[in-house]
Amino acid sequence: MPARKKADKPADAAPPPSAGVAAPPGSGENATQRALRKLGLVRDIDFALHLPMRYEDETRLQQLAHARDGDTVQVEGVIVDSEVVYRARRQLIATLDDGSDTVQLRFFNFYPSQQKQLAPGARLRVRGEVRGGFVGRTMMQPVVKAAGTPLPLALTPVYSTIAGLPQPVLRRAVQAGLARAPLDELLPEALRPHGAWGLREALRFLHHPAPDVAMAALEDRSHPAWLRVKADELLSQQLSQLQARRAREAQRAPVLQADATQPQSLHARLLAALPFAPTGAQARADQEIAADLARVRPMHRLLQGDVGSGKTLVAALAAARCIDAGFQCALMAPTEILAAQHFGKLVGWLDPLLAAQGLRVAWLTGSQKKKEREAMTAAVESGEAALVIGTHAVISDKVRFARLALAIVDEQHRFGVAQRLALRGKAGEAAQPGQALEPHLLMMSATPIPRTLAMSYYADLDVSTLDELPPGRTPIVTKLVAEHRRDEVIDRIQGQLAQGRQMYWVCPLIEESEAVDLRNATATRDELADALGDAVRVGLLHSRMPTAEKQAVMADFSAGTLHVLVSTTVIEVGVDVPNASLMVIEHAERFGLSQLHQLRGRVGRGAAASACVLLYATGDSGRVGEAARARLTAMVETADGFEIARRDLEIRGPGEFLGARQSGAPLLRFADLSTDARLLEWARDVAPQLLDRHPQAAQRQVDRWLGTRAEYLKA
Ligand code: ADP
Ligand code: MG
Repeated sequence: MPARKKADKPADAAPPPSAGVAAPPGSGENATQRALRKLGLVRDIDFALHLPMRYEDETRLQQLAHARDGDTVQVEGVIVDSEVVYRARRQLIATLDDGSDTVQLRFFNFYPSQQKQLAPGARLRVRGEVRGGFVGRTMMQPVVKAAGTPLPLALTPVYSTIAGLPQPVLRRAVQAGLARAPLDELLPEALRPHGAWGLREALRFLHHPAPDVAMAALEDRSHPAWLRVKADELLSQQLSQLQARRAREAQRAPVLQADATQPQSLHARLLAALPFAPTGAQARADQEIAADLARVRPMHRLLQGDVGSGKTLVAALAAARCIDAGFQCALMAPTEILAAQHFGKLVGWLDPLLAAQGLRVAWLTGSQKKKEREAMTAAVESGEAALVIGTHAVISDKVRFARLALAIVDEQHRFGVAQRLALRGKAGEAAQPGQALEPHLLMMSATPIPRTLAMSYYADLDVSTLDELPPGRTPIVTKLVAEHRRDEVIDRIQGQLAQGRQMYWVCPLIEESEAVDLRNATATRDELADALGDAVRVGLLHSRMPTAEKQAVMADFSAGTLHVLVSTTVIEVGVDVPNASLMVIEHAERFGLSQLHQLRGRVGRGAAASACVLLYATGDSGRVGEAARARLTAMVETADGFEIARRDLEIRGPGEFLGARQSGAPLLRFADLSTDARLLEWARDVAPQLLDRHPQAAQRQVDRWLGTRAEYLKA
């Protein structure tokens, strides 16, 4: 059994009686305490879990004569020369002779006291990276100590830190925290990870390596000490998500259980009116959603499917089920263009069917005229608007739903936690007195989440996957073309356009400047209009255009009266014009992989063979950077969204890949999803057992690892 002392006051969870350095915010914190808090180091346990990122070997002295370029060495010797010089910058250069050779020590921001310390004749120990070989060795900003200082017996831990928090100060704070932190075993023996040490043993081993412990052992992430740390970290993440899931399962949502097979149901009439049959994957997702909606606990489902897999129809079918049960549905998209596309499509599908019931689809955005907006808001409030589509405006305070039961969020990763919470809050307004209701939530994403990531960061979600594209799609041919061949590309597209095709030409964000960005797209529009002649109509789309103008351009392009659409990345998500069969992306090397894949997904939606041309520039070096090369290669090699997502995760790492959903949420610090899949499986198995059988230990495990940050995961 785990030692459970003072269960009424779990020491891990308590706010600081801290490591003697940190104090609660506002209580006269000093600079060191502030820096520590920025690093997330407040409670003793936070310090204990702030593990070294690497180790240094200060146990030995080396000889300069044996040091190679790039080696980090520690030598002792005598200063033979020292002067302050101005070479581009003011610097102090001292020469140290260790008997085997000499090295130039260079310091930039030095104090007068340092200058004194480095005076000729001083006997010093210096430690740093050696640059250069026989032409003359240099060491930039080495660490300096008096010669003869006792050498440590063991390897020295190095912690990640921030400016203003020197390594020795942090090291002392960590030691103090480690000594005080309650590290009692929380896991009953049967639930401990195999082949791993106890947490206390593991942390001591990693913070205080014994003299006989080799560098290789400490750096080996499969060492039993690291295994325990990683297992504990993954377990607490699984636990907190399981808690979130259970909390949600205790909530109530409207039960949406109309008989969709009734021929007069909206669901059945929508299916009958469609010009195509749903794919097997769409039908499956629809069934999974139907089962969720019929339960009293709120749905929390992610619908993931590659671009063009037909998520909109699944959303429409879910909305129809909700409306059939007598409730309202809201669909929120991150951009106005995308929301407008959804609106266009869903109005076309549903409005004629809804009219018979005196219902309609409503449209809400921030840029709407006040009068129209008020009319729409009134329709939402009265319940006449059975489906409401829009941007963030949908969650504005002014919008009150009569009986919202289903919220659909497209491109969910583009919304923050707060926005999703606001949407969920909207159903409360429709609740019966004394009965708080949550809406069912369907999130959609065109960026599939690789399995390990889904298991760790999205463990609280149910997932439906559209793994099948609608029939009749032709594969998109992707080509890399160097920028100097841009004119040839323009020649080629002329031929395509002559056959009645339409195309996108996407200009990048250059230097993060909207102004430059805009000029770039505008100039390209003019250039293409010139080059392609009068018969070809070239339009322009960018985010700073007034909404009405944007909509007019999109409408012209959809109708085929515009042939070429020059655009910034505003068309990245969701835009659907099946006749467009060619996509040119300029400066493709600057785009992220998922973004390129999304852009490419704008074509290949009709029967015509489609192509995507990635124009890349090499810059001054004459080469494309390594990460950019990996992205472009992936684009040419695969059009499979899951494979793209996997590679994107590999290139960017989970932090950036997850984006908005995780903003502020704790990312894994020690476990690595690409190598620790088995530990992750273990954590997933153990979490429910611990939570069910040892709820207090489970809670302490979460508090210990996530502290107050655990809250972020609940959204
Ligand atoms: P995404 O998943 O990228 O949001 P969309 O919902 O925009 O994809 O669908 C892409 C295109 O495929 C749309 O034109 C849509 O009408 C069409 N579509 C959707 N489902 C089917 C289907 N089962 N058969 C044929 N075409 C379909
Ligand atoms: Mg879509």
